[in-house]
Amino acid sequence: MYSVVLHYGELALKGRNRPWFLSALTRSIRRALRGLKVTGVRATIGRIVVTCEDEAEWPEVRDRIARLPGIENFALARHAPLDLDAITGRIVAHLPDRPVASFRIRARRADKRFPFTSPEIERHIGRHVREVRGWPVDLSWPELVINVELLADEAYFSFGQERGTGGLPLGTGGRVMTLLSGGIDSPVAAWRMIRRGCRSDFVHFHAYPILSATSQEKARELVGVLTRSQLWSRAFFVRFGPVQQQIVLSVAPPLRVVIYRRMMLRIAEALAGQTGAQALVTGDALGQVASQTIENLAVVGQATSMPLLRPLIGMDKEEITATARQIGTYPISIISDDDCCTLFTPRNPATRASLAAVEAAEAQLDIDALVRQAVDTVEVETTAFPPRGDRVAAGE
Ligand code: ATP
Ligand code: MG
Repeated sequence: MYSVVLHYGELALKGRNRPWFLSALTRSIRRALRGLKVTGVRATIGRIVVTCEDEAEWPEVRDRIARLPGIENFALARHAPLDLDAITGRIVAHLPDRPVASFRIRARRADKRFPFTSPEIERHIGRHVREVRGWPVDLSWPELVINVELLADEAYFSFGQERGTGGLPLGTGGRVMTLLSGGIDSPVAAWRMIRRGCRSDFVHFHAYPILSATSQEKARELVGVLTRSQLWSRAFFVRFGPVQQQIVLSVAPPLRVVIYRRMMLRIAEALAGQTGAQALVTGDALGQVASQTIENLAVVGQATSMPLLRPLIGMDKEEITATARQIGTYPISIISDDDCCTLFTPRNPATRASLAAVEAAEAQLDIDALVRQAVDTVEVETTAFPPRGDRVAAGE
């Protein structure tokens, strides 16, 4: 048996909302670890302790917890009886099999009845570790921190710490609808919202069968990666080809991209009405491509009355790409595809579309009918993590 000890962002969880945040966090941990041999998830003073039966599952437990929002850091912790020699013996027996440049012991007593003070415990264990391995002690900048916690009935210890995703627990931030292309940016935008505790639904616009189905397959895979953080997702696949064909009939080429985007927002808003999403999210970053000037972003944004969130607006491509790599969406995003936006658009779209010109062009379109048709023919897919098959296998 072993435990995983998790710490959350203290400041964010203070105040009267704390019990609510904590129950959201423990619930999401339980769900994320479904199908694994976990015997308990409980919140104790300032931390959450997960008890697990099978240490062979630790790499999987670690991967799942590392993606969950609301966790600052966590560590595998082993148990020991409440006796200083027994604790020391167990720590020495489990020391990592690698060279360590320096270490320190950090002891904490939750129960002050233990007959040694924390510094005494640290010195005692530290001396033994140094004797056995010869590693130097460094109290200020140790490479390895060995944590020892003494509770009322037992002790546990851990080597170092894993970094969590940070942010706020799943389900504490409301519901949003992310416009998810197959590109690099929008999955990162969705992830930033999920990290702040939102649940995100997704809408992907495709021009299949005029173009290939690759963008849909990419969107589906991207949703799969993001679902490892939010555990359940719903994705809408909208046939955008018919909308684009109508636009092409009456709108001059330079304005098409802006009007495509406005139609996307209108359709997303209609779908958000079905799911209860409170805001729309896009992966726009200022100035990244010609269509993302402040003028165009403003004109596009005026197509919806919903709050429109652009979490990447001030980020450079390098920063966005670094996050995409870190969360695992990058390799999917760079697969080449036919984005529907490239359909019937000129090389040089308008960089400063005026709202008057856009509205005049849109007067030629039956906007409501186009939105209705798109919504009526939408395909919906849901994805769960862990996959439902796993849960059945685990007898749930
Ligand atoms: P991305 O990398 O997310 O595609 P981008 O820098 O390529 O972004 P655009 O292609 O101009 O920028 O798209 C801006 C935003 O509009 C996207 O981040 C996304 O939120 C939305 N969007 C664009 N195309 C689609 C699509 N086919 N389906 C859903 N949303 C889209
Ligand atoms: Mg794109």
